[in-house]
Formats: sequence, C-alpha cells, structure tokens
Amino acid sequence: MKRPTFTWLDLKAVMQPDMCPVCQLVNLRTEQKIATFQYAHIADVDFRKTFIDSDGFCQHHTEKFYEAGDHLNHAVLYHHLLTVKLNRITQQKPAQKKKPTACLLCAHEKTSEALYINLFASGLEHDALKTMYMDKGIVCMHHFDPILKRLRKIKSPHVDDFIKHTLTMYQSYQHDLAEIKRKNDHKHAEERLSDQERHTWKLIRRLLVDQGNHRR
Ligand SMILES: [Zn+2]
Ligand SMILES: [Zn+2]
Repeated sequence: MKRPTFTWLDLKAVMQPDMCPVCQLVNLRTEQKIATFQYAHIADVDFRKTFIDSDGFCQHHTEKFYEAGDHLNHAVLYHHLLTVKLNRITQQKPAQKKKPTACLLCAHEKTSEALYINLFASGLEHDALKTMYMDKGIVCMHHFDPILKRLRKIKSPHVDDFIKHTLTMYQSYQHDLAEIKRKNDHKHAEERLSDQERHTWKLIRRLLVDQGNHRR
C-alpha cells in the first residue's frame, strides 16, 4: 500500500470544529493534484492519453480544474479533446464503444480517502489529536462507518469514546435543527435563532451528504 501523503501532524492541522478531517485531507490532496496537473503534466503523453480516454474529468473536477487553471492549460487539453471528438464526427467513426475510464482526479480521491481513513484511526492514538477530536471534532456520516470499522480492526482502545463523542455531536446538531423548526412557528416568532443554530444549518449538508458522490 502507498504511504499516506499526509502525516498525523497534517491531520492535526485540519482537525477543526464541525469539519470532517478526512474530507479536508482529501480536498487538500485534490488541490495539490490539480496544481501538479496544471504545471507539470499538461504536456505529459501518458497524462494526456488518460485524460482523453476518460473523456476529460468528471463535471465536479472539471470546474475545480477551471477555477485553478488558465487559458494555456485549457487550450492545450481541450484542443486535444475537441480534435478527437471532431475527428470522430468528420471521419464518421462510430461513437466510442467502451465506457470512458475513471476521472483521474476521482481515482486519486478514492485512493487518498482510504489512506486518510486509516490515518485518522491511527491518529487517535496520539493524545493531542484525540483531545482535539473529543473537544469539538466531528467526522462526516459518510466516513463514520469506515473509520469505526478500521478502529475495530486495529483493536483500538478508543472505539467507545469515538462513538460516544460523535453521536453526542450529531445529537446536538439534531437539537439545533429541531429548534430552528420550532422557532419558525408563529407562536415562537419572538425567539431568535442562536449563533449555534445559524452555524448548524449552514454546515449540516457537508456532514450528511457524501462529499465524494461526484466520483466516477
Ligand atoms: Zn468526511
Ligand atoms: Zn472527478
């Protein structure tokens, strides 16, 4: 298995309240990959072949690449892809039969996600990291099960604390959301949303919706 790109110190750096550290590391890694593709790989023959075979990136990563990109790398990549597509039409070649291969960046995300789940599980062995998690840390619902599975597999002594703390955090979000609904009732119209409730409705989607469900 490949070594993790990040260490537990990096994990500590992204251990922030209300944000899943595994999602954070996957995103950081993707940003690094995009930067590498921009400046080092555009002219690389293997990279270009994979880009063409995969019919570009998935929609999510196409937009990420666009946001970080410039006119030249877009011209190089999309000139190549457009030429392939136009040739197919003008030479009346049948539509591509085989399914496009996986988006390069999605494939990287799947690999790094597995590494960071393991990194997080091992990271709980470090007192400082565990303390940060047990304070206001959270993992998203999508990563909760695989982390738990990993903790059980390595016979971690922190399984119960991990479950208890994570559920307590989710129950507090559940309470905030219920309060927002209650205060919306005209009988309670004079009650204002608390800062915590305002914070919770803005963050909850990132914790409940799989942040990797764009992957192909
Ligand atoms: Zn996550
Ligand atoms: Zn993708």
